Amino acid sequence: MSSDRNGVIRPWPLVDRRAFIGAAGLAGALSFWPMFAAVSAPLRYNLKPVELAPGAWMLVGADEAITRANGGAIANITILDTSEGAVVIDTGPSRRYGEELNSLARQLTGKPVVRALLTHFHPDHVFGCQSFGADTLAAPKGVIDGLKQSGEDFATAMYYLAGDWMRGTELVLPQMIVESGHEDIGDRRLRYLVLEGHTDSDLAVFDERSGILIAGDLAFLNRAPTTPHADLPAWHRSLAKLSELPISKLVPGHGPAETTPLALRQTEQWLRMLEERVGNAFERGLSMTESMDEPLPAWTEKIALARYEYERSVMHLFPKLEADRWPRVDQSN
Ligand SMILES: [Zn+2]
Repeated sequence: MSSDRNGVIRPWPLVDRRAFIGAAGLAGALSFWPMFAAVSAPLRYNLKPVELAPGAWMLVGADEAITRANGGAIANITILDTSEGAVVIDTGPSRRYGEELNSLARQLTGKPVVRALLTHFHPDHVFGCQSFGADTLAAPKGVIDGLKQSGEDFATAMYYLAGDWMRGTELVLPQMIVESGHEDIGDRRLRYLVLEGHTDSDLAVFDERSGILIAGDLAFLNRAPTTPHADLPAWHRSLAKLSELPISKLVPGHGPAETTPLALRQTEQWLRMLEERVGNAFERGLSMTESMDEPLPAWTEKIALARYEYERSVMHLFPKLEADRWPRVDQSN
């Protein structure tokens, strides 16, 4: 995650805009109070739950990069009702998002949140954690280790990218470690699959009774996958494992939920396309910038952010190809 694309930073940041509105509004502040109050209102995500099945909802992330317009709310978040309390899967990009998520989960289920699971350490999924009790936060060890190592850098990047939405947000580490296996929370049996490939540690959650698979960022649908910490061979293996599950509905990390495993197939297809195109460009001796201009297959036209993520993936994959295919002459046979 980095602010490597200037396009996502708006030239007139919200903080400056608000200062300007404040100064310009001073003279008429009293007579135009309602208007002034409207533009100064605190930012809100206005989360809208979409029902997946009885007692299961998702909050659909925007098919966009993180910007000051969307406040980083680009990832899908899932809420499950159980007889013991609410379970949320991923906590969103900021403290503000986490607070709205926490109260929405209470409102939908009529119960407090008893568990907040993190699927991986990327910032659009983890910075709402502050709003949940430390003893309810749980993630695989690799996710917690990743947050220890990179969490502060992610927070800095998010403050630059999302601006005011991030105010008051701090890194919080889960206390509970999730391992592969089952957990019964009230009347729900959750199967945890600790996998890897999108990052070093990716959690997928399968709700055994409803057949809903919450795949985290191992699966994308109609939105191009991100690869800053990807291990593509491991990602293929994880997709194959998820394909074996009896899925009734699949919630990808980004993109719409579907009753088919289309997200798994499309993610697989994207990764193969990346490997072929980027590998081929490398073999032909193209530079990174030349490789970014390579044409993409027609089927990617319906994929949001296809060109943007393809270019970023060239940046991520080229150094690996150089390390793999250009060994030091004194270390090769
Ligand atoms: Zn994500």
